[in-house]
Amino acid sequence: MPEGHTIHRLAQDHTTLFAGRKATVTSPQGKFSDAADLLTGRELTRTEAHGKHLFLGFGPADSWVHIHLGLFGTYAMGATPAPPPTDTVRLRLLNESAYADLRGPTTCALITDAEKQAIHERLGPDPLRPSDGPAKAYARISRSRTTIAALLMDQKVVAGVGNVYRAEVLFRHGIDPYTPGRDLTEARFTQIWDDLVALMREGVRLGRIDTVRPEHTPEAMNRPPRVDDHGGEVYVYRRADQTCHLCGGEIRTAALAARNLFWCPTCQPPGAR
Ligand SMILES: [Zn+2]
Repeated sequence: MPEGHTIHRLAQDHTTLFAGRKATVTSPQGKFSDAADLLTGRELTRTEAHGKHLFLGFGPADSWVHIHLGLFGTYAMGATPAPPPTDTVRLRLLNESAYADLRGPTTCALITDAEKQAIHERLGPDPLRPSDGPAKAYARISRSRTTIAALLMDQKVVAGVGNVYRAEVLFRHGIDPYTPGRDLTEARFTQIWDDLVALMREGVRLGRIDTVRPEHTPEAMNRPPRVDDHGGEVYVYRRADQTCHLCGGEIRTAALAARNLFWCPTCQPPGAR
């Protein structure tokens, strides 16, 4: 599943390619046809992302297209001419110079301002939303016996963090992923939050997740670059049984919150909170 940086990037790309212009809106697949008929010829006025939710605002009234890619949703965007529409495209936006095709989302629905607000209210703060901060997330974490690794994946606690960022940020701060939320101090969690803000902004900019510090890049360590379909240089994610860049020990993996967790038991010892 894409992490929050991908969704914020999609919001930015929609603004770049479509904002302030009238779009032709269609649903070649047919499932979004009625809404597309209402929106076509209207202007895309605003885009927004919150965690893994994307919102495309059409003027003049407050109409939003709410999109959640889920596990299988994908976007293809680019310059015109657009490829012939296939019946797998749920939503197509098209103007003279660009197109955007959405396929296979979990959610693609036309919603009102009030319905959009309700979605924001059930999500935790998002490190990529400038108005959000760590306080609301820490209020929940500090009351919870659940592990910090599971809490970071809970979108009601922190929105936008997925499996890669949670593993990497805990490694970067030397925190045992099994630490109960209530054992983390506010100062410690604020460091995690600030680091997520920086890492995820970089993710939006580059379109991939890089988490190694300058001294641990392949060039600095004179090691081969990582080969993995998710791209990016990381410390622990999908590096089970490989050598830790910091201590030389073995990276471990285990299932946690329905996803594979990765960590270094030496660099992230129990009790180091
Ligand atoms: Zn290590």
